[in-house]
Amino acid sequence: MRSFSFYERVSRAFNDYPSLSKFLVVFTVSGGGLVAYAEANSTNGAPAIASSESENVKKKVVVLGTGWAGTSFLKNLNNPTYDVQVISPRNYFAFTPLLPSVTCGTVEPRSIVEPIRNIVRKKHSDVQFCEAECFKIDAENKKIYCRSTQNGKDEFVVDFDYLIISVGARVNTFNTPGVEEHCHFLKEVEDAQRIRRTVIDCFERASLPNVSEEERKRILHFAIVGGGPTGVEFAAVLHDFVKEDLVTLYPRVKDQVKITLLEAGDHILNMFDKRITTFAEDKFGRDGIDVKTGSMVVKVSEKEISTKEMKNGQISVMPYGMAVWSTGIGTRPIIVDFMKQIGQANRRVLATDEWLRVEGCDSIYALGDCATINQRKVMEDISAIFSKADADNSGTLTVKEFREVIDDICERYPQVELYLKKKQMSDIFDLLKESKGDDTKESVELNIEEFKSALSQVDSQMKNLPATAQVASQQGVYLAKCFNRMEECEKNPEGPLRFRGTGRHRFRPFRYKHLGQFAPLGGEQTAAQLPGDWVSIGQSSQWLWYSVYTSKQVSWRNRVLVVTDWTRRFIFGRDSSRI
Ligand code: FAD
Ligand code: MG
Repeated sequence: MRSFSFYERVSRAFNDYPSLSKFLVVFTVSGGGLVAYAEANSTNGAPAIASSESENVKKKVVVLGTGWAGTSFLKNLNNPTYDVQVISPRNYFAFTPLLPSVTCGTVEPRSIVEPIRNIVRKKHSDVQFCEAECFKIDAENKKIYCRSTQNGKDEFVVDFDYLIISVGARVNTFNTPGVEEHCHFLKEVEDAQRIRRTVIDCFERASLPNVSEEERKRILHFAIVGGGPTGVEFAAVLHDFVKEDLVTLYPRVKDQVKITLLEAGDHILNMFDKRITTFAEDKFGRDGIDVKTGSMVVKVSEKEISTKEMKNGQISVMPYGMAVWSTGIGTRPIIVDFMKQIGQANRRVLATDEWLRVEGCDSIYALGDCATINQRKVMEDISAIFSKADADNSGTLTVKEFREVIDDICERYPQVELYLKKKQMSDIFDLLKESKGDDTKESVELNIEEFKSALSQVDSQMKNLPATAQVASQQGVYLAKCFNRMEECEKNPEGPLRFRGTGRHRFRPFRYKHLGQFAPLGGEQTAAQLPGDWVSIGQSSQWLWYSVYTSKQVSWRNRVLVVTDWTRRFIFGRDSSRI
């Protein structure tokens, strides 16, 4: 009889007793406080495979991509009446927030990836995976054209009833000369592995006896372009790697190491609270990381980076040994091509409605970094809203009439709620009152012009969602839930009133819930910005970071591997072998 490994036994226990998996509680004693995280993502409970009769009527759902959006859609799709086909050039999901940790060996690459076949196997329903790249979408004929990534030649066509586009984005070089050829990117697992090898290469090369002092300095100059969260985190982990491990292994060259962070804007981490930006800049200053803000990279050659000062346009040149380019994201060619096809050519990313449907394409959905929600403006629909609300067609809106539609307005147009929050108003009546200048709530009655003027400012609160894993995964969960209840909601629509048409929308629109963001700054210090602008910086946030990133892993295997890697690093340090 085969004996089970510890992992198999533990996973069996979790499979047999699903409630157990609801209690991954990571306790962290931090600064006297106790942080507890409960993981409630059970992979069990998927319905049984559909019967053979329903086989014929199965709708074909094709998912492009196995990143944050695609994988969270797959994990949460539980309706066996779909025939699901997943197409992606990589057969695994990668936990991107830990990619910077892979660049210096704090975490091993295999610890942060999960084979997609492992994920779909647990679905117990019809999910097929193809390792291929989609190169053309034919929306009209509901077909996609794919090419195998095995040899780059074999091509095939796949039909779909519903297409889920979640292909993410590519790196944006802003067409800066030399970037593609000479800079490293930090987007994929392979990029992180390449960076890890190059860092060690630089130290080994600089240690050779025939290298001049000047050349040694150049080789050990690490330049990072882009002061966003990825660039900053990479600078921090590289600094830790050098300070904690490499200086003892390469004592002869340790004084020549230099890390420069180049940012075109006035500050690094400018999407974070000012307190975090200031703390990060001060900490990097103390650590000896040279932060050059207001400095835009205009050209990269094999050994030099040219920068332009934003203030005076002065061009300067700095020699470097390794450069990492991390300045933002651009559109994938397949999306550019698709946007041209559907009349969205002048856009940067695919526009969808609030239900994540690509505008103008009924059965095509797009989520994650390749898409953005085109939130409808209240002012575009203001007359339709007014006539729908004015139930008695009197030409004025009474409080009673308004009360009937208020929830639908807030659900359909989330900017209304944001505006009220900003104005510190308790409800929408305050807005109406303000416009009417009336003291008594119940006596408010508005004509169309007064209604327009009351709501004229609410659209100023519309914001595009950031291109983050948090948004992509929430969109995947949302869309899977819609697909799970497609038939049910067709019969009993649960969405808000259709102000321009009749009846209700099938589903509630997607709503993003921001859970906060982290900026690891090295030396066991992390900045955390949590909802409500609550800011915490220091070691306690570092423990919060460890807890959250453990609980957010997609499988128990990943959780165990990541925690083991961190423990190994604490005890033995990082591995500097160049393999
Ligand atoms: P991706 O996750 O990029 O997945 C795209 C998928 O599509 C991939 O599987 C790809 O192989 C596949 N694909 C590509 N082209 C095709 C094609 N033609 N046909 C079929 N499939 C295709 N976000 C956070 O919220 N928090 C963080 O801490 C954080 N840290 C990050 C750190 C790094 C280093 C990076 C690079 C990103 C980080 N992000 C973070 C951002 C986050 O990773 C992205 O927002 C997220 O990956 C977007 O998810 P997605 O599914 O849209 O795209
Ligand atoms: Mg009326």
